[in-house]
Amino acid sequence: MRARERHGTVMAAGCLVLLGAMGSAQDKPEAKGPARHIQQERFWANLQKLSEFGKNPEGGVSRVGFTEADLAGRMYVMGLMREAGLTVRVDPAGNIFGRRAGMENLPVLLFGSHTDSVPHGGNFDGDVGTLGAIEVIHALNEAKVKTRHPLEVVSWTNEEGGRFYSGLFGSSAAAGILPADVAERKDDAGQKLSDWLMRMGGDASRIAAARIAPASVAGYLELHIEQGGRLDEANVPIGVVQGIVGINFRTCTATGFANHAGTTPMDRRQDALAAASRAVLAVREEVRGEPGRQVGTVGWMRIEPGASNVIPGRVVFPVEVRDLDAGKIEHVAARILQRFEVIGREENVQIDCTQPDLHPPALTTPAFQDAIRASAREAGLTTMDLPSGALHDAQNAARFAPMGMIFVPSRGGISHAPMEYSSPEQVANGAEVLYRTLLRVDETK
Ligand SMILES: [Zn+2]
Repeated sequence: MRARERHGTVMAAGCLVLLGAMGSAQDKPEAKGPARHIQQERFWANLQKLSEFGKNPEGGVSRVGFTEADLAGRMYVMGLMREAGLTVRVDPAGNIFGRRAGMENLPVLLFGSHTDSVPHGGNFDGDVGTLGAIEVIHALNEAKVKTRHPLEVVSWTNEEGGRFYSGLFGSSAAAGILPADVAERKDDAGQKLSDWLMRMGGDASRIAAARIAPASVAGYLELHIEQGGRLDEANVPIGVVQGIVGINFRTCTATGFANHAGTTPMDRRQDALAAASRAVLAVREEVRGEPGRQVGTVGWMRIEPGASNVIPGRVVFPVEVRDLDAGKIEHVAARILQRFEVIGREENVQIDCTQPDLHPPALTTPAFQDAIRASAREAGLTTMDLPSGALHDAQNAARFAPMGMIFVPSRGGISHAPMEYSSPEQVANGAEVLYRTLLRVDETK
């Protein structure tokens, strides 16, 4: 059911109080149904076809970047781009671009997402934004709309970081922030990133040439599923992303002394697991220690030697802190490290952490937020402002262009799992808002 129909029902029932109570962050939809440009059936059918590549028995996909399934999915996407009349090229980092000419000699408007997945992932993360962008091109063609700016649909390489790199590979190349050694990376089986890039039509030796010059892009837009439950819970069809969180990620090691669990008195122990356990709770306390939406997580633990009758001598665990505010991430992370020092002293265990991997946060461009809100209103769809707790290529794009992101609901807030789901109507709503936002930005930039 579309939002405007839902509101129609509410209005007919006379529940104006309820409508008013839904909050100021939401815009009132138009009373009568505005025209749709997106063909929901075609968009959904293409999503279904893409889900065949890397299909897994649980009903989702395992289309991990730099695998055969990823290659097959990419071929399918390039075919769709050509069908939509786009001129396709692949840059040295394997990013796929499909270009539609503009009427004026202006920088491009870039929009898209990715089609790689996590292992045992779902059919919507990335796919909705990439195929939604291609659907927008079809809709523009059908409406015979010519834009002032040239348009480029992009499908970024290895967003999820399945192999060779921690994530956002293609957009990191475009932003010029890949580490210098990346081209030489191999996995445990000896497979080389450079060989995979070659198979994708890229070129590891020329990866620096994938960098996108800020003057060449007028704006970047990305449609994506929320991957959280806020839109679904509030029954709001469109999320206006305020910004994408940054991450400070470290790997920490608690080193104690492995000794006999039966003969070592309690006051003589250097128990690395006891210290690491206190460290996990300290992460939670420090993150919760001030108001805000910051989050911190210890996602796994490796305990050595890992026997029931031996006091753990060594424990390895990661610590990540995320927020929209880089300063807050930094000071929360610093407080966590201070707590680790205290715990280490008290437990007679050494706790050391690596230098952090930093993915800086990015705020979306206010003018693009306004354009998304206005476009949703015009399409009869309510909106909610919200941050993105997941990383996206858009945060790298923000380094070379003004950036905006549109979210659609994820059922039950589930993502990175086969149960991930957004309905045909929900994804079409998102593509419709992308279509309208793009035209707004094209007129005003
Ligand atoms: Zn994604």
